[in-house]
Amino acid sequence: MTPNSNESLEAVIQVAGLHKSYGQLEAVRGIDLRVHRNEVFALLGPNGAGKTTTVEILEGHRSRTSGDVSVLGYDPGKNDRKLKERIGIVLQSTGVERYLTVFETVDLFSKYYPHPLPVGDVIQMVGLGDQRKTLVRRLSGGQRRRLDVAVGLVGDPELLFLDEPTTGFDPSARRGAWEIVRNLRSLGKTVLLTTHYMDEAEALADRVAIMVKGRIVTEGVPSELTQRKGRTIIRFRIDGENVGLPEGLQLDQEVVNGAYSLTTDSPTHVLHLLTTWAVEKGIELEDLAVTRPSLEDVFVELTGAGPMEGEGM
Ligand code: ATP
Repeated sequence: MTPNSNESLEAVIQVAGLHKSYGQLEAVRGIDLRVHRNEVFALLGPNGAGKTTTVEILEGHRSRTSGDVSVLGYDPGKNDRKLKERIGIVLQSTGVERYLTVFETVDLFSKYYPHPLPVGDVIQMVGLGDQRKTLVRRLSGGQRRRLDVAVGLVGDPELLFLDEPTTGFDPSARRGAWEIVRNLRSLGKTVLLTTHYMDEAEALADRVAIMVKGRIVTEGVPSELTQRKGRTIIRFRIDGENVGLPEGLQLDQEVVNGAYSLTTDSPTHVLHLLTTWAVEKGIELEDLAVTRPSLEDVFVELTGAGPMEGEGM
């Protein structure tokens, strides 16, 4: 295969019929994927779904059992040095030398690439400008993760693999990391992200794919996936005793602390029933909100599990 070189909707990653077995275990069961240049694509799924296996095959770190895989026009299974120079990989934990400074670390990795970015610029980009002379072992967990991203970026990759970039971050560090990813997109990079946080995927990803037991069960633009489910959630509170509901309306769950939640395919009808009933009874529907399901709701429905469930988080 020769590298592609056209513009906007060029597929940077193409996967067709990918299978991977570990002995008897079929970890990846025939998936198809297409990631376009300059998009942030999130691969989601519960523990053991096959995400890491898939991503590592794309990175050239794992062999495949069968299927076609093309990354920037190369077969990653062939271990081509030219491909390695054009991709960046941010693993869950990178083995960087703890006794070097931030600058020395990024500088060291820059030497592996033919056209690295200026080291100072990369450090600035990940928000470690004030720590450039700090020893790696003195960095906080969040700062270490930023350094991992800097190491993944210094070779000026066209495609960056980001494996759970914000696991263990506090909320402000997460926002900071999100800014970095957005910045990467504005620089024209393509990002393949894995994450267990649905809000992160919703905030960052142009498209997502949800994997369950080695298969992709759904794929698309987050806002379309949540709309496709075609449901609306109506939430409100009624102070005081449980007053019940008008006939024909079904609650999602027991009323807790006066909080009601209803999921419906016909919000106009339900709202009409509800508000007419409330007005007639003189009941105020406090904090009345009409929302669409979140990506997390879609995830839970498709996988049968909360994204934060299971081991390994
Ligand atoms: P997580 O969210 O926990 O990282 P994942 O979606 O990345 O999970 P994988 O790590 O790809 O899932 O694992 C998919 C399945 O393959 C799991 O059942 C796992 O136990 C199995 N598996 C992964 N790596 C190996 C290996 N090297 N040898 C044998 N089985 C493996």
